[in-house]
Amino acid sequence: MSSLLLPLPVLAVVLAALDALLVRTAQPWRTPDVRLFFHAYFVWLFFGLVALAPARATLAVLDRRRTATVRDARCWLVLLTWMVAPVATHAILDRHTTLVGFSGLGTLRPWGELALMGLLGWVLWRLLDRTLGRVSGIFPATAATVVALSASLAAARAPDLALADSGPARPNLLLLVWDTTRSDRLQPYGHERETSPGLARLAEESLVFTDALSASTFTFTSHLSMLTGVTPNTHGAHLLDMTYDPARATSIAEVLKAQGYRTGAFVGTDVLAGRTGMRAGFDVYDDAVDPAVCDTWAWRLVHDLQSLAAKLVPALRLNGRPHWIQDFQRPGGEVLENALAFVRRDDPRPWFCFVNLYDAHWPYLPEGPGRELVRPYEGPVDGFLFRSDRWEEGYEIQPEDARHVADLYEAEIHDLDQLVADFLDDLDLELGSTAVLMTSDHGEGLGEHGTWNHDDVREPQVRVPLLLRLPAANPGGRRVEAPASGIDVMPTLLSLAGVAVPDGVEGLDLSNPEIETIAGERERWIDDRDHLDADDHHTVLYEGPWKLVRQGVGERVRYSLFDLEADPTGFEDVHGAHPDVLAALTARLEARAGRDEGVSSGGETGSAAALKALGYTGD
Ligand SMILES: [Zn+2]
Repeated sequence: MSSLLLPLPVLAVVLAALDALLVRTAQPWRTPDVRLFFHAYFVWLFFGLVALAPARATLAVLDRRRTATVRDARCWLVLLTWMVAPVATHAILDRHTTLVGFSGLGTLRPWGELALMGLLGWVLWRLLDRTLGRVSGIFPATAATVVALSASLAAARAPDLALADSGPARPNLLLLVWDTTRSDRLQPYGHERETSPGLARLAEESLVFTDALSASTFTFTSHLSMLTGVTPNTHGAHLLDMTYDPARATSIAEVLKAQGYRTGAFVGTDVLAGRTGMRAGFDVYDDAVDPAVCDTWAWRLVHDLQSLAAKLVPALRLNGRPHWIQDFQRPGGEVLENALAFVRRDDPRPWFCFVNLYDAHWPYLPEGPGRELVRPYEGPVDGFLFRSDRWEEGYEIQPEDARHVADLYEAEIHDLDQLVADFLDDLDLELGSTAVLMTSDHGEGLGEHGTWNHDDVREPQVRVPLLLRLPAANPGGRRVEAPASGIDVMPTLLSLAGVAVPDGVEGLDLSNPEIETIAGERERWIDDRDHLDADDHHTVLYEGPWKLVRQGVGERVRYSLFDLEADPTGFEDVHGAHPDVLAALTARLEARAGRDEGVSSGGETGSAAALKALGYTGD
């Protein structure tokens, strides 16, 4: 064993440096963080300790005649192999597992790749073993350490951000997305509880759109519609293909960057990770939701082992979340702090700053002063809802349970509101150089007719706030009834910047004084293909008082029709009573579906696999 104790820490240095280098290369938009190397080092050191026993046994078999000493290169090679092989094996198998499960492992491909890797590894091993022979392992190891560390450090240099001429004065643009925020729980939308005093103050200086819908009910899809000004069917992304394809739609960040804006994005959830392509056009894309070490190859193996262990041993699970240090969200305070540092940077150019705040999203775990909104409750339901350890299968939620969940949700909104109010105070909006567009990517079911979370297209799940504060405030605020949609975000902000809207954009400029007339009786669409089962897919057409919902695909398609004037909650299906309306709207919906056939329908991404590992089922 003693012959391996020197190679162990040295190999951990080399592997950690290489791992950090790979992470840095794969995510050049991340701010370099030297802690990445040190964290990775401890993970690799741990792997080395685990590898000691099998490495020693291997050496015993290989060197029957004499005991290898630390000077032998073979000791180093054997230990290295035992440290790297599990991580590489996991990486190959992981490539073939997806959100839909482990079906990829049922084919020959992953096992063929594994066999190929084993063969190549063996050939390489033999070659190195023969070349190095019995030379001292210290020399090649020292050389490898120096090379790996230098490369890793060189890659960790911060990118140079060139300063440019500011050009004519143009407003700064702030896009503030409060994830999972339904409008009717906010004071500017008539809610009587003290959930959002800060937003109420912003509303007093803003245009308040009273009839705003999200473009989708899935975070990624909906945000992409906001940034590109097109419906999900047009940009093509959905749960199983979370990729931004610039050939299908142009991101506002790309347009503004080309126009001399500096652009920054600060997101609170891994669902909006830069690797999806959403970082396109952003100078800074801050998606560091988890500690940097979570991106290393070494940690990916640890993470999946954690998940597996938690599946097998209930004691290792906590409210359906088996993961230690890894989460899919980060607190709004951290996100806003980084965003503030970006807008305050000494740079004469106007800025575009996109902020996603994930705080109101499930699980509902208020920790701040908002808890005062939570009324006394003794029941069995908590903020983890159906994934809670306390959840009993078959239990029927009672009205007081639903009220408690809504209290927790509102308390989270309250605390987020306070964070945002402080952030906006720091922006000095009264100077008149910044426009603010605040909205949400979807709403949230809080128990209405058994509707929870946001995996359906019910009114509470698609009605979102939309506040537009122009650079010159609108004293007293103004309520605008024009029908608005998430796809209007991009053309509205571009218009405020005085920039032409690219061809193909489907949204409208909400800052247009004539918007009530222009939007009039416009068609609005919600596309929801964000489910594992196509039978849960929805397409929704809104026009005037009518809402037509198509659910499912192929022969299992069914339609429902809602009259929102008579039934604003949208739970009473009246398709039988209005055959003419049903026929007319159905024809339009089908015609559009025909045009959109060929919308991408498959493909998996690393994010999908990551979500699967998180037990994510379409939030
Ligand atoms: Zn969301």
